[in-house]
Amino acid sequence: MSLKVMKFGGTSVATTERLQKVADRIIKAKEAGDQVIVVVSAMGKTTDSLVSMARKVSDRPSKREMDVLLSTGEQVTIALLSMVLIERGCPAVSYTGWQAGIKTEAVHQYARIGSIDTSLLRPELKKGNVVVVAGFQGVTEDGEITTLGRGGSDTSAVALAAAFGAETCEIYTDVTGVFTTDPRYVTRARKLKEISYDEMLELAYLGAGVLNPRAVEYAKNSRIKLVVRSSFSEEKGTVIKEEVSMENPRSVRGLAFEKNVTKVTLLGLPNNVATVSHVFDALADKSVNVDIIVQNVLDEEQTSLSFTIDHELLDDTLDVLHARKKELGFQNLIFESELAKVSIVGSGMASNPGVAAQMFHALARKNIKVKMISTSEIKVSTIIDEEKLLEALNTLHEVFRLAEEESISL
Ligand code: ADP
Ligand code: ASP
Ligand code: MG
Repeated sequence: MSLKVMKFGGTSVATTERLQKVADRIIKAKEAGDQVIVVVSAMGKTTDSLVSMARKVSDRPSKREMDVLLSTGEQVTIALLSMVLIERGCPAVSYTGWQAGIKTEAVHQYARIGSIDTSLLRPELKKGNVVVVAGFQGVTEDGEITTLGRGGSDTSAVALAAAFGAETCEIYTDVTGVFTTDPRYVTRARKLKEISYDEMLELAYLGAGVLNPRAVEYAKNSRIKLVVRSSFSEEKGTVIKEEVSMENPRSVRGLAFEKNVTKVTLLGLPNNVATVSHVFDALADKSVNVDIIVQNVLDEEQTSLSFTIDHELLDDTLDVLHARKKELGFQNLIFESELAKVSIVGSGMASNPGVAAQMFHALARKNIKVKMISTSEIKVSTIIDEEKLLEALNTLHEVFRLAEEESISL
């Protein structure tokens, strides 16, 4: 008998009517003879509403209490979905993350899963119950409730699949698979049949919200095949696995983007070996996560340093840098908001030197100014004005012919 892990995201479980549709799928899997673990998210926009309620009562809510609050969302879904299944004659039992033995590190709001005690769910599966587990949550060794970061139910599902030795983890969502880019932004975006872990990982880290990057990382390390497909249609989804069968892969397989980027620049920094480390130590102390970094050495004495952050972190960044202005020795601080990061991703890029140039030409032709650049073997990221984002995505999608089917050319 094989074991299946099926994960349903927020939109898929948004209403009690939709829970019936989700139950249809689960019952079908159960009738095919599989043992089934189901992982669910909070219903619809529940997590967003809980976040905004917290902001109403506190400017900087306690991280511990945020975890206690946000973890309630998924608990509602597990109970309701189990009730629906039982009502329809399919034995089911709900488990919170901590009841399911999902142990995490002691970090609030962005904890990593450390281990899963499978002995807690096994007896239920043996009895023939569908086990409905709350995604996005776990517990520390000390019994503190933790959450796994936004989109973290994907990670719960993959971690459970790995712990229970499932070969595949099915991610049911509101799109029919992984597309060349977000189909809400580019209407010509095309669904990919397959994509490699590495490309998916890069797309996810660079902002493709369809999968949580940590879930992809976990799947890659545990060799779990991921299938992303729609909760609402029978259409075949996208398979994410080690090797994809393309003999002649395109240089660029997908585009990802992030909005709300802010660029901070420190001018007139002393040009000595320790300056940069002091700046980033100060930011790390405040848990400010920095993305793209560019340093310009102006002359023997002076350098300037620019870096990007999520706009939400601007206040913390300004606080810490202004407080340490003397010690860090910079003369001026400027920042620019309403920026976006647009990235092209593809493992074929490593052997195709012209790809970055092609990207810059395409943006220049549309008069889109590139403000910062960062590259790796399989991606090129650029910072542009957020108001140009749609145009940039559609242009790059066209230039790299992403709407066209990839074929094996000999
Ligand atoms: P869920 O609640 O099921 O986890 P998410 O909202 O987290 O769903 O993820 C699905 C959404 O991801 C889609 O509605 C789509 O707008 C967005 N998305 C971003 N990039 C992509 C992509 N490359 N392919 C498909 N969807 C994408
Ligand atoms: N409910 C959480 C969120 O909205 C986790 C998830 O849906 O994966 O981020
Ligand atoms: Mg998600």
